[in-house]
Amino acid sequence: MSETGPGEPAGAAEVAAAVAAARRGQEVWASLTPWERRDGLRAVKRALVSSASRIVEVVAAETGKGPLDAVEGEVLPAAIHARYLARTAHLHLAPRRLNPQPMLTRRAWVEYRPRGVAGVISPWNFPFFLSFQPALTALAAGCGVVLKPSSATPLSGALVADLTEQAGLPDGLVQVVRGGADTGRALVAGGVDVVSFTGSSAAGREVAALAAAHLVPTLLELGGKHPMVVLGDADPVRAARGAVWGACFNAGQACVAVERVYVVAEAYEGFVAALPAALSNVAASTDPARGIGPVFGPGQIEVVEAQVAAALAAGATLFAGGRRVGESFYEPTVLLGVDHSMAVMREETFGPVLPVMRVADEEEAIACANDSPYGLHASVWAGGAAAGRRVAARLRAGTVAINDCLVNYGIPALPFGGMGDSGWGRTGGAEGLRAFSHTVAVTEARVRPRREAYWFPRRGGVGLRLRLLRLLAGR
Ligand code: NAD
Repeated sequence: MSETGPGEPAGAAEVAAAVAAARRGQEVWASLTPWERRDGLRAVKRALVSSASRIVEVVAAETGKGPLDAVEGEVLPAAIHARYLARTAHLHLAPRRLNPQPMLTRRAWVEYRPRGVAGVISPWNFPFFLSFQPALTALAAGCGVVLKPSSATPLSGALVADLTEQAGLPDGLVQVVRGGADTGRALVAGGVDVVSFTGSSAAGREVAALAAAHLVPTLLELGGKHPMVVLGDADPVRAARGAVWGACFNAGQACVAVERVYVVAEAYEGFVAALPAALSNVAASTDPARGIGPVFGPGQIEVVEAQVAAALAAGATLFAGGRRVGESFYEPTVLLGVDHSMAVMREETFGPVLPVMRVADEEEAIACANDSPYGLHASVWAGGAAAGRRVAARLRAGTVAINDCLVNYGIPALPFGGMGDSGWGRTGGAEGLRAFSHTVAVTEARVRPRREAYWFPRRGGVGLRLRLLRLLAGR
């Protein structure tokens, strides 16, 4: 493992050295087949399990999250993803035979080859998991990794390199560079072969532009504004409990957090009536059972306060919460009477705030849900399966949950990613592995005549080609 020190942020020279070292390690790693790399992935998984307590300690110390939140939100999902990758990466990356029509005398297949060195840039909200997951996916695809964690949480990110070192992966394969946006820019422009960026839409735009100038492909996992749609026949108690969990998990600092709720008129009273009981299960603390943890992102609590204050000034009403507790905790908060003129309904809040809007019917709920530049996660809550699926199919989001929320992230076989301002590309599943792979199309002649019918000198004229065209493509 190599890591720039805690003092100075890594500049272009350090980033270039890290990319070169990762490339040397990657050459060794990529000489193994995906099947052979399974041993390394399993060793990382074992290192993760044996280091679980230390990871929890580091994350808790760096973020202020309670240990239970660090286990649930960081270590457990990391272990689940590691297990999935160790079990399935070789299957997803196996060559895939394709029908060679109309070239019937050929064989055709695709191969997935590692892109090379991946630059992985991660945020502070799940500082270990969101570093580990893309890094391990890149490794599973045969890439080397240069990871740049958020400057707010460098130690949690650096744990990834400790684990790969413990697991005995090739020397230099995983590098960590420390610093903020400038180090991130140096990494994007630093000769990497693919960039995986998780962070805000504003920074994602900049990363996309810089990567485009270097013709480097990007995977952009950006912000979200999860709309929750509650239909008339939904179970109000489950919906209210789900809304509170979805808005308050990690104190709302999740790209998939429930950020706005649209309840159709006939369900509205029942849903609001069920909220107090749901809210009685949460508190602005790190209490293991009810604590939602601190709002720990740099400047984040001020954003939350400003959005709530602006909504109240514009006519929203405070149903619950609405106050800071101590330095960095914020009460689980419910706003009623909100509308789409308010920032709390349009911009990422990233805090434990649940704005609830009454809408006339399903059509209005869908229109409001889709009235956002973001499209990461959405949920619909319905009594009947048909209604739930009908609405789910019309929600503009890369991940959708029916009668549930946030759960997609915990299923490693599912591709995860967004539309619009939420970014592009998918992590997770086969798609995630292939994002770090070149898809190479290969053909092979099964029979080898001295010359093919269409080689020079050509036989026949346009008439023959047109007859062939009709034969192949019909009239
Ligand atoms: P951020 O965009 O400020 O920073 C993310 C990372 O990018 C950090 O490591 C930062 O140093 C680096 N960075 C910032 N500007 C850069 C630039 N111009 N070039 C290269 N690197 C740059 O985001 P944040 O505040 O750390 O994280 C919160 C954001 O991340 C929220 O918007 C949240 O929704 C989003 N997020 C998305 C997902 C997802 O999977 N879609 C997951 C978690 C968080």
